[in-house]
Amino acid sequence: MYIGVDYYPEHWPEERWAYDADRMRDAGFNVVRLAEFAWQRFEPVEGRFEFEWLDKALATLKSRGISAILGTPTAVAPVWLDRKYPETAAENNQGRRLTWGVRKANCPTSPAYRLLSERITRAMAAHYASNPAVIGWQTDNEFDGPICYCHGCVVDFQDWLHKRHGSIEALNAAWGTHFWGHAYSAFAEIGAPENLDHYNPGLCLDWLRHHTWRTVRFQHEQVRVLRELCPNHFVTHNFMAFGNRDVNGFELARDLDFASVDVYPIWSDQSIPYEAAAAGDLTRGLKRKNYWVMESTAGPCGWGAFGRDPFPGEIRKVAFQQVAHGSDNHVWFRWRACTAGREQYWHGLLGHDGKPLRRYAEAGATARDLHKLASKLAGTTVRADVAIVFDYDSRWAVRIQPGYDGNDVQQALMRYHAAAFRAGVNVDIVSAQADLSAYKAVFAPDLHVLPDALATRLCAYVENGGVLVADCRTGVKTETNLCHDRTLPGLLSAALGIEIEEYGAHSLEYPVIGKERLPGSFTSIKYNDWITPKTAASLATYDHWHLGAYPAVTRNTYGKGAGYYVGTVANEDSFYDALIAAVFAEAGVAARISPPPGVEVSVREGDGKTIVFVLNHTDQPIEIPIADSYGDLLSDADVSGSIQLDRFGVAVLEERPTKRDGRA
Ligand SMILES: [Zn+2]
Repeated sequence: MYIGVDYYPEHWPEERWAYDADRMRDAGFNVVRLAEFAWQRFEPVEGRFEFEWLDKALATLKSRGISAILGTPTAVAPVWLDRKYPETAAENNQGRRLTWGVRKANCPTSPAYRLLSERITRAMAAHYASNPAVIGWQTDNEFDGPICYCHGCVVDFQDWLHKRHGSIEALNAAWGTHFWGHAYSAFAEIGAPENLDHYNPGLCLDWLRHHTWRTVRFQHEQVRVLRELCPNHFVTHNFMAFGNRDVNGFELARDLDFASVDVYPIWSDQSIPYEAAAAGDLTRGLKRKNYWVMESTAGPCGWGAFGRDPFPGEIRKVAFQQVAHGSDNHVWFRWRACTAGREQYWHGLLGHDGKPLRRYAEAGATARDLHKLASKLAGTTVRADVAIVFDYDSRWAVRIQPGYDGNDVQQALMRYHAAAFRAGVNVDIVSAQADLSAYKAVFAPDLHVLPDALATRLCAYVENGGVLVADCRTGVKTETNLCHDRTLPGLLSAALGIEIEEYGAHSLEYPVIGKERLPGSFTSIKYNDWITPKTAASLATYDHWHLGAYPAVTRNTYGKGAGYYVGTVANEDSFYDALIAAVFAEAGVAARISPPPGVEVSVREGDGKTIVFVLNHTDQPIEIPIADSYGDLLSDADVSGSIQLDRFGVAVLEERPTKRDGRA
């Protein structure tokens, strides 16, 4: 297991490096990520490469048993590059080049930028291919925006559209350009949409898809060099999970050996880190395999204002939460808070004064715990019975036209994911292309874009025994972002047993009365489908003179499975808890340990082992009843009956092999 920090030796005098490396070794760290913003240091003038400084730093680290991941440094171009090749700067939607001096400000289509990026990558790869300290590479840094609107990108978009649609007639039909008289007669006439909320929805969706395509191509030009020159090194990228808004993470991950994630769940409040749990599940889902944490909370975070300092136990808990979701290696951002630059307030394990104090000690203790667990965790991953479909086409279609005010695919997903978290049940977050057949239950939140092939697969999934949950606006769009010309929910009507002839968005509140398997009183907000059940049964109705004629939630038996439909947004977590309890009961999904509020349970399995992580996200000690007997892998004690977790405490429990039929 690799545990360590993001380290910037170029920020400190060379005399300091040995001290830093000694403290890293003392803490049990064995890896650093380096150099992802060091292009200027590597190539201070065009074509002159200087690697001696990093060679020395790597030797200092390696002599303490610390290996290195190198970032290709293309997220920040040196100033000489900008001044000599101004066309490499990304252009905004007003035709203005971005002003050099921040980061992530370059055009991924610019021939000069691609050539210079490939050249620095090639020079680094050639120089470090056989350096014994180097084990792998991170491409660039947090690929996402900005979206470049330059002429080169638009011409590239036109070529891409030509290949995708085949003919201008096909494109006109796909986008519905008869509306507002927007038909094109040649691809060369097509421009970028200035914004996503006024232009043709088909144009906007393809523009975002093309931004991913450009970014994937830019990354591939580096990956190709790294594969060629460094065949023994891994190649990864540090994703931002849901923070990747403009780039489809599933597509960007295809070229990589595994995905990595940057995760910062501690800000100013003290909320339960639902999103960090989902971030882990999404990152595991990018490649359907375990992942790395390449950056994580080491102190207060922020560029201008910063958040709170993690309380004792929280730095450790953040790390264990990710390991519980399938991370096998952990890197903190950063080693030491920098005294200069825009990230002065993005604090490290060490403060500006460089003293190894509380946060350093906690990370070191965490590293020792994780090293102790490494052999037990080997061969294990999260195996979930439940999947949530996360579809970038739908995410973007909703961003282009939310339908109802404030609609957002990530929020829609989180309503179900957080309910599964509270239920103590693991979830896979997968793309719409994933094979769903092995899952007992599948949630398809805000799946607006529903190509017929996907609808057919979802119907077959239910027919063969799966439990599907769909919700508001499912299937409203084709893959080119036209509205389907069918009564909603279109091809899913048979599986869901409903039709929706009318619907509307609002800012009102309607009482909802649940019944049978969905007991409780809830509040409908934002949106209502006026659902006509065909074969489905109603699980909840509106307490309203008109809407009372329509169910708010339905359940339909279809083949060997069941289709649930949620025709509104509920204001209460208790609604989603009740719904997920009904779905899990029907699908035969159960938690190993039912967590009390604020506690998270996640299970890793494999190699005949079942390892249960129990995390207390609250600042109160808590006792958790457990049904089975376990070995506590951190304390080496046998536990049964209940476990006691300190505030922000963590337990890692190995199930005894005789328990649970079929799992031993
Ligand atoms: Zn461009």
